[in-house]
Amino acid sequence: MNGTAVVIGASIAGLAAARVLGDRYETVIVLERDELPNVNAPRQGVPQGPHCHVLVAAGLREFERLLPGFRAELIAAGGTPIEIGSELYLTRYGRAWPAVPGDVEFVSVGRPMMELVLRERVAKVPAVTIRDGVVVTALAGSADAVTGVQLDTGELIEADLVVDCTGRAGRSDRWLTELGLPIPAQLDIKIGLGYCTQLFRRGSDDLPGWKGIVTLPTAPDQSVEGVAFPIEDERWLIGLIAWHVDGLPDDGASFAAAVRALPDPAIGRLLDRVEPVTEPVTARLRSNHRRLFERLDRVPAGYLALGDAICSFNPFYGHGMTCAVQEAVALGATLDQHGRASAEMVRDYYRAAAGVVTVPWQMAVDGDFAYPKTSGPRPRGVGFRNRFAARIMLASQVVPELKTTFFGILQLVVPPERLMRPRVVAQALLHGGRPGRGNPVASFMRRHSSDGWLKAIGIAQARVDQFIGRVSHGRITSTGLSGLPSLMLTTTGRSSGQARTIPLLYTNDGDEFVVVATNFGRPAHPGWSANLLANPAATVELRGRRIPVRAVLAEDAERERLWRLVTPTWPAYETYSHSSGRNIRVFRLVPQNGGSARDDRQTSADDRIPKGA
Ligand SMILES: Cc1cc2nc3c(=O)[nH]c(=O)nc-3n(C[C@H](O)[C@H](O)[C@H](O)COP(=O)(O)OP(=O)(O)OC[C@H]3O[C@@H](n4cnc5c(N)ncnc54)[C@H](O)[C@@H]3O)c2cc1C
Repeated sequence: MNGTAVVIGASIAGLAAARVLGDRYETVIVLERDELPNVNAPRQGVPQGPHCHVLVAAGLREFERLLPGFRAELIAAGGTPIEIGSELYLTRYGRAWPAVPGDVEFVSVGRPMMELVLRERVAKVPAVTIRDGVVVTALAGSADAVTGVQLDTGELIEADLVVDCTGRAGRSDRWLTELGLPIPAQLDIKIGLGYCTQLFRRGSDDLPGWKGIVTLPTAPDQSVEGVAFPIEDERWLIGLIAWHVDGLPDDGASFAAAVRALPDPAIGRLLDRVEPVTEPVTARLRSNHRRLFERLDRVPAGYLALGDAICSFNPFYGHGMTCAVQEAVALGATLDQHGRASAEMVRDYYRAAAGVVTVPWQMAVDGDFAYPKTSGPRPRGVGFRNRFAARIMLASQVVPELKTTFFGILQLVVPPERLMRPRVVAQALLHGGRPGRGNPVASFMRRHSSDGWLKAIGIAQARVDQFIGRVSHGRITSTGLSGLPSLMLTTTGRSSGQARTIPLLYTNDGDEFVVVATNFGRPAHPGWSANLLANPAATVELRGRRIPVRAVLAEDAERERLWRLVTPTWPAYETYSHSSGRNIRVFRLVPQNGGSARDDRQTSADDRIPKGA
């Protein structure tokens, strides 16, 4: 047993470190600047507290090993266990992942509550004392060995080991400089991230079939993620995370508008059903930031950094807390090897900590460089890796076992090397095309969709399709044969009362179809759109399926969102919008009687889309 260890900072990293050191030091003193609340409340030293915090599966498992029963305590405190494969409604690329049951789980709970549960457990470790309301101002000792810390009160606390868990804004650079030591080289990848979060009252039937929602953006065109997670006290935490964002929503109305503009409607529809209990709050994170302690030539004995003080990632990936606990475990193992906190031990620990952060750092930085505005040292091969990752993600939407692998990697419980297996590579190549974009004829037509000659062909094609689409019940259309998504829509003539059938391009939006009343850019609205306004009950025929639908005219923020969704299907919508000189009508066609717009060949495993979501 060693003598005294001091841990600076009582956030996640500090508490994890204290737990590990509690087995190896007679006395562990945790020093925290904030007055620590003994209730579930955010605090100044952790300004990220009100925002969504997922302790990914690897982190949860690690804390459970260190503190048996931790998971159950989070649940007892109001946390909701969520199995990633089957209980989270996840979308990207305009498509939902199918539900695939597995055993990769996190517990959804507010960050202050998670910290409170953790702190109460760590405070019970016999060697550990937590002192709050005290600020560490300097390290004591020399360039060879740190021997303690100086407090703002002038008090000196002697220690055999000082662990700096002061977070991203920590003072390790200043403290090392004061001892005459070099500071680590730093990596800074600018991402201009913004968070906006609001809490809502949660009812038992808000989201049938699912426990949470994650709407992922498709980079680079989309840059806002949406999340809806259940947290303690029967609340929903609904959050937006945006890259390279200038303004953030600053009231309930602008927050709701931004949620409704997400690429998938599920969170917007949840919002329609729930009442706010707080105002939205915001946070910003300028960059991914890493201090390369492992490259230092000279480190003192008795002092090391851990957690965000080493590496602070884009929190979109949810890896900060998990890396902190994994570094704490690495610290324990390195101490066991060396027996005491010598300079050699500190160097070995930094190497082990670098091993912990390498994969999450690469995931975050690669993902962030999918946005052209991201700046900083760009890793080699990032373009190739991002293209491959996109194919894997797309394939994981249609190959269930690949979904388990992919999300297991994100949750840090499956090694990323798994993606290099020949079978996985083959699945990515075979199934990793963008929905509806694989067909070269369709790609060609999309590229030329605004050309006059293609418009002339389109008008002729519509006449042909009106006939063959009707007799084949939407099984065959010339538009469909060229790889474009096409359906037959039957409306009721507003004057004649007769059935009127028309071929249309469509885009999937979750369970629904979206159709656009362009009339090839002519000034008049097409007759079928007027029919729908007069009588919204209609029928879609698609590949031999007859689906009764109810048409809803999209307006305001919803129309904006749907416009962004449909333009990749047919880029000429933009041209038609200008040439028609009118506000082109966009309709949601909502399947009735439990029907779905989903292409059942693609998402047959997914029969649990929330009916109202
Ligand atoms: C908006 C946002 C969302 C996030 N979401 C996730 C997520 O979903 N999943 C995830 O794993 N991670 C997430 N993170 C990251 C996560 O918050 C951190 O990785 C985690 O808190 C570990 O940080 P830490 O303990 O090293 O430092 P911090 O949490 O920053 O804590 C530092 C502590 O040190 C104290 N302190 C500082 N200086 C002194 C001093 N001189 N003397 C005494 N005490 C001092 C502070 O008061 C504070 O308590 C998110 C971060 C942000 C910003």
